[in-house]
Amino acid sequence: MSTLTVENLSVHYGGVRAAHDVSFTVEPGQSLGIIGANGAGKTSTLKAVMGLAPRQAGAIRFGGHDLLRAPAHTLVRHGIGYVPEGRHVFPGLSVEKNLLLGAYTQSWKRTPIDEVYEVFPVLREMRHRLAGALSGGQQQMLAVGRALMSRPKVMLLDEPSMGLSPILVAEIAAVLKRLNADGLAILLVEQNAKLTFDVTTTCLVMENGEIAATGTSAELRDDPQVRRIYLGL
Ligand code: ATP
Repeated sequence: MSTLTVENLSVHYGGVRAAHDVSFTVEPGQSLGIIGANGAGKTSTLKAVMGLAPRQAGAIRFGGHDLLRAPAHTLVRHGIGYVPEGRHVFPGLSVEKNLLLGAYTQSWKRTPIDEVYEVFPVLREMRHRLAGALSGGQQQMLAVGRALMSRPKVMLLDEPSMGLSPILVAEIAAVLKRLNADGLAILLVEQNAKLTFDVTTTCLVMENGEIAATGTSAELRDDPQVRRIYLGL
């Protein structure tokens, strides 16, 4: 079973404790959100799962594999896709080349590029443009499309709404919900609680590097404290 299990994960940068004793699971087809204020430890948690931040943990397992010491590029081979904060597209390469780079685990002749173009028709239209010439929203779609090129079973997304207009945030939400409905498990890290509650069924709230609350997204959306702190209501 392709369940992502994270147990007692801690992240320390030298003397700075970014995350402590974080545990969660993402079941096949599930959508889990992690919300929290700036600096709460969300990005560090996601990066540590991907092997991109120093991690100490009881366990990181996926599909029966122990990934605690696995380097980042091997996680993609296991079926874990990653959309980093800030998109990190290659601005001097075409949209199509950016997508093909995401398929480095696949046979060149059988990449899912047509499926990605179906999800994001705008990327097909712009496939010969340089990625650096795309708008922020289009670059975010490219970053998600590039992650889809490895045919992931679970996709980890770090702040896909950052810097986007409300209309584009709604577009990203619609795409994520569709991908999830089609069977892709999603772990979404966001400061935008509204987007997270919209896309996910279960959520963790992080504060000062720890999990402060867990619940269904519907419960948390109705929680007066969460509404006040994270929705500004
Ligand atoms: P944001 O929404 O701003 O990305 P976050 O919830 O993702 O916030 P992190 O970026 O994980 O939080 O940061 C958690 C803590 O770790 C913060 O105190 C931050 O200053 C610290 N931190 C993050 N990256 C590093 C690093 N490379 N070196 C030292 N400290 C770091």
